[in-house]
Amino acid sequence: MKAARFDLHLAADAAEAVRHLQGDDAKPVAGSQSLGPMLNLRLARPGLLVDVTRCAELRAVTEEAEDVLYGAALTHAEFEDGALPDATPGWLAPIARRIAYRAVRNRGTIGGSIAHADPAADWVATMTGLGASVRILGPEGARELPMAEFVTGALSTALGPDEIVTAIRLPRRGPEARWSYWKFCRKVGEFAKASACVLADPARDEYRVLAAAIERAPVALPDPRALIEGRADPREAVEAALPFLSPERRALQATATSRALAALETGVPA
Ligand SMILES: Cc1cc2nc3c(=O)[nH]c(=O)nc-3n(C[C@H](O)[C@H](O)[C@H](O)COP(=O)(O)OP(=O)(O)OC[C@H]3O[C@@H](n4cnc5c(N)ncnc54)[C@H](O)[C@@H]3O)c2cc1C
Repeated sequence: MKAARFDLHLAADAAEAVRHLQGDDAKPVAGSQSLGPMLNLRLARPGLLVDVTRCAELRAVTEEAEDVLYGAALTHAEFEDGALPDATPGWLAPIARRIAYRAVRNRGTIGGSIAHADPAADWVATMTGLGASVRILGPEGARELPMAEFVTGALSTALGPDEIVTAIRLPRRGPEARWSYWKFCRKVGEFAKASACVLADPARDEYRVLAAAIERAPVALPDPRALIEGRADPREAVEAALPFLSPERRALQATATSRALAALETGVPA
């Protein structure tokens, strides 16, 4: 099936994109890797698509003392290729490299992925795990939300219909910080069936063990330090925190969590 007819506006900047989103019938588009199939299946039928990929603000990287802001229209491939400054000790390229396959990564964007909020999406899991926040622009001006508040459920966010994601703010992590991300995929290039992120950053006193790809927003497991230091059982933590999953999915999630914890010493698994 082909998409129903729509008009396309190529926005030159973020403010212009927001102006064109006024009204019920308009929708932003970035890489079109998630929206394109929805248009073709006619699950979405906007009358106007506002392309945000040429907005300079959404293509920029802004380095601040404590954080790096990544423009929403930067592609997975740009992260994969190490073309962008990394707020972490080299963790972003391996995350990007394992999203789908290169043709998808050439067009798909970090902002599009987060705005789409597929519960199994890699940036949704890892940006939540890394304590990122989302910069938003709408008719009332700019605002910023932590990822944990931005993603409100499966395919659901706090974004208004006339708002766009302009950037993702990622806190800088020093060399003493440790991180791992483990995901189960049945085939290479498929979305995860279960995933887990672990962050231990003593300099910021930040510890997190996150369960993702659980058909809702990622869930932070309680007492992450005890899990990281081996004083708590990941299987019991998953059982307690994710009662809504089937026993099979909980078992998969517990294994992902155990493997992410074990991989913490070595960094992101290949
Ligand atoms: C075959 C295939 C396999 C895939 N496998 C994976 C995978 O393993 N892991 C993974 O994480 N992803 C995967 N994806 C999804 C891919 O990463 C997409 O690129 C991503 O989900 C959406 O990014 P996009 O830029 O293409 O957004 P689009 O498809 O253009 O837009 C998606 C949604 O976000 C909205 N949107 C886009 N940009 C903005 C913005 N700046 N502000 C507000 N709203 C915006 C659109 O209106 C739309 O609702 C896969 C996709 C395909 C086609």
